[in-house]
This record gives sequence, C-alpha cells and structure tokens, in this order.
Amino acid sequence: MSVTMGEMIYEGKAKKVYATDNPNLCIVSYKDDATAFNGLKKGTIIGKGEINNRVSNRLMKMLEANGVPTHVVEELNGRDTVVRRVKIIPLEVIIRNVAAGSMSKRLGVEEGTELLRPVLEFSYKDDSLGDPMVCESHILALGWATEAELETISKTALRVNELLSKHMAETGIRLIDFKLEFGKTSDGQIILADEISPDTCRFWDIKTGEKLDKDRFRRDLGGVEAAYENIRERLIGANA
Ligand code: UDP
Repeated sequence: MSVTMGEMIYEGKAKKVYATDNPNLCIVSYKDDATAFNGLKKGTIIGKGEINNRVSNRLMKMLEANGVPTHVVEELNGRDTVVRRVKIIPLEVIIRNVAAGSMSKRLGVEEGTELLRPVLEFSYKDDSLGDPMVCESHILALGWATEAELETISKTALRVNELLSKHMAETGIRLIDFKLEFGKTSDGQIILADEISPDTCRFWDIKTGEKLDKDRFRRDLGGVEAAYENIRERLIGANA
C-alpha cells in the first residue's frame, strides 16, 4: 500500500499522529517518551517506540484473526503504522483479572489478589481532570457513546481479555490488567484503536512474578528497557 505522510494532526504523550493523502487513513508514530501519574513523571525509555509499535501490531493482528476489528492497516517501519482514521471515544476501558495499581489503592485490596471475575471499568479521558472513573450511566447521560456502542465496547473488551490472556499465557506472561481505547470510523463502526503494549498492560512473569511493564518506570524499579525488550522477544522473537 502506498500512503503519503501529511501534516501532524495530533501529538500525545507516547505517539504522534499524521494525516495521509487518504482521508480514511492516518499514520501513528510511536515515541520513546514515557509519562506517568497524569504527566507528572516524565522520562525516556530507549527503544520503547519501536517495541510498542511492533508488539501492539502483533497483538492487534492476533485479535483481528480472531474476529476483533482493529484500526491497524499496515506496519510501515519500526516506529510507524498506517491505521484507520477514527474519532476516539473519550473513554479508557480498563479490564482487570488481578487487583493492582489504582484498584488496589482505592479499595485496599492487596496487589496480586486474583479476582473472581474480570472487572470492567471506564475512565473519562481528560488529563485536566485526571481521567476520572465513570460508570455506564455517566457515559450514556453525557452522550459519549450510545447504548448499542457501549454494549459493543464492553463485549469486545471482555473478548479481548479472553484472547489476550490466553495468548500471553502461552509466552509465560500473566495478564493482570490493561487499558483499551475504541474509535468510531466515518461509517459508524466501533473498532479497537490506540495500542496494546507494556505501556498499557500489566504483564507479570507467570513463574517469577516479575513485572514486565510500565510499572518498572512508574515505580523506579530499574530494568525498564530490559522488561520491554523481554516482552518483544517473547511475542515476536529475538532478532525480529
Ligand atoms: N492504564 C493506561 N493508561 C492510563 C491509565 C491506566 O494504559 O492512563 C493501564 C495501566 O497500564 C494498567 C491498567 O490500565 O495496565 C490499569 O491501570 P490503573 O487504573 O491501575 O492505573 P495506574 O495504577 O496505572 O494509575
């Protein structure tokens, strides 16, 4: 496919998005920049952009092959991928299998506590408000998604959890929790957008419990680059 990169239309914390000569396509370009705690902590994780681009595309392709529609069209190179142009639904859709992070803090549940069933949570994507947690009735009352769209989002997120948990387990990784974002195409289809990577998931080694995700950066645990590389190698192979 030949698409020509146009002007930058958005720069986020971890990615830049460019228009292309095709109005239905964009190019996302992954950066090495890392932020945490709503932008309060800033840093660089060398190689992160390339790893997240490749890892996210690999996982999205696996989901596509299992019937989950995603925005990924074509990986152009290490950092850049052609994606379908969507309007992002302003929600962070979080699925949890094991208590960790903000859930452990908010509810006083020890990190690592296995949940009896997956938890589905929504946050309103707004940095100035600190991405506050919202429930379904906020989403419907404020018109961020329709009832049918919200049902699609919830069902898809739970299906992604099944597929991703199984896929990661095959590489020796326990999927603790993760965040998804969905977008709406110009013809109204809801598809999976954004990324699935160690920036947006908690990945713990099944045998050792070692954290192989952005918590190493958030919590100053060291070995951040090695953890991202470890995930890339497990999913894609050593020299890919
Ligand atoms: N997450 C994310 N972006 C956010 C908030 C959370 O990708 O802005 C991911 C995070 O990496 C974890 C899951 O969503 O895998 C649940 O995060 P949590 O609510 O525990 O928040 P945190 O502890 O990261 O503040």
